[in-house]
Amino acid sequence: KGHPPSSPDFSNRGVSAKGTPLKGEPVQIVVATDNHQFELDEEALEQILLRSDVKDKNVAIVSVAGSFRKGKSFLLDFFLRYLSAGGAPDWLGDENAPLEGFSWRGGSERDTTGILMWSEPFIVKTRDGEEIVLLLMDTQGAFDSESTVKDCATIFALSTMISSVQVFNLTQNIQEDDLQHLQLFTEYGRLALEANDNISKPFQALQFLVRDWSFPYEAPYGAAGGRQILEKRLLVSDKQHPELQQIRRHISSCFDKISCYLLPHPGLRVATNPYFDGRLKEIEHDFLEQLQILTPMLLAKENVVLKEMNGQKVQCKEMLEYFKAYIKIYQG
Ligand code: GDP
Ligand code: MG
Repeated sequence: KGHPPSSPDFSNRGVSAKGTPLKGEPVQIVVATDNHQFELDEEALEQILLRSDVKDKNVAIVSVAGSFRKGKSFLLDFFLRYLSAGGAPDWLGDENAPLEGFSWRGGSERDTTGILMWSEPFIVKTRDGEEIVLLLMDTQGAFDSESTVKDCATIFALSTMISSVQVFNLTQNIQEDDLQHLQLFTEYGRLALEANDNISKPFQALQFLVRDWSFPYEAPYGAAGGRQILEKRLLVSDKQHPELQQIRRHISSCFDKISCYLLPHPGLRVATNPYFDGRLKEIEHDFLEQLQILTPMLLAKENVVLKEMNGQKVQCKEMLEYFKAYIKIYQG
């Protein structure tokens, strides 16, 4: 065994579940520069959104956001597996195949703050026979200093405005400071709204995802337990400090739909072994079981949420224009 690689390595990531190479790669489309500016890689984005078989189709964009090193990319790699397998019942695949996709192994150094998109759009046929495009986004950021808090808020706001479903990845519980962060993020989004008055409500679905949930006797794993926790956390009561009431009202008013899912701990090999490469064999059964419910809940053709702006579905080519407009707002 050698040392875990310390720099991103997206090449030669083994084979996907079905033994065929996974098509595509993560592409950094938004980057926070050293002086806290935001840049859009228009060319990279055009290559994805303006592909001839993609540009005129309605789009659904699933994003995963939250603090650094909390398993976002790991989760997205499973989403890629699901989509690559076309949602086949055995999509989880070979128990010995390493995971590949957004994640990269080893170390706890942060990578660049920004937004990544999977270069290969997934074309999915919905129940009414319409072909739509499903895109996956990964976000990166850390709350390690004042300035990066602002960067993260911007990245979160941007990815929330762009996605049809924002997965807010948390660890262990929904804490008060997670709600405070969310308040800040959505406030940034509000600013964008005010700057752009032809967009009434750009936030669609917010999916809290609690990782390493360890109180299944209090609220069961999955969506039902998540609902229980969410109701408790977002409850507004007279007994609360007015500021806490305000945060809760604000969050609820920002999204069309808010839900929560509780995931169990994936096991110590996933959490602590630097050589772990994502193979199923080493992941706790409970975790995989929940993953097999969560993934189709978000990505199956009958569940996928299309991107809408002002109640209108959005095509890929239009999304490019939204990206440009939104990034401008944050370039100040
Ligand atoms: P990201 O920075 O949020 O994208 O995190 P990564 O996906 O790169 O994962 C960071 C580390 O957490 C890796 O070592 C993963 O194996 C591990 N990990 C992934 N999912 C989970 C989880 O649900 N719980 C715990 N405790 N660790 C996880
Ligand atoms: Mg990551």
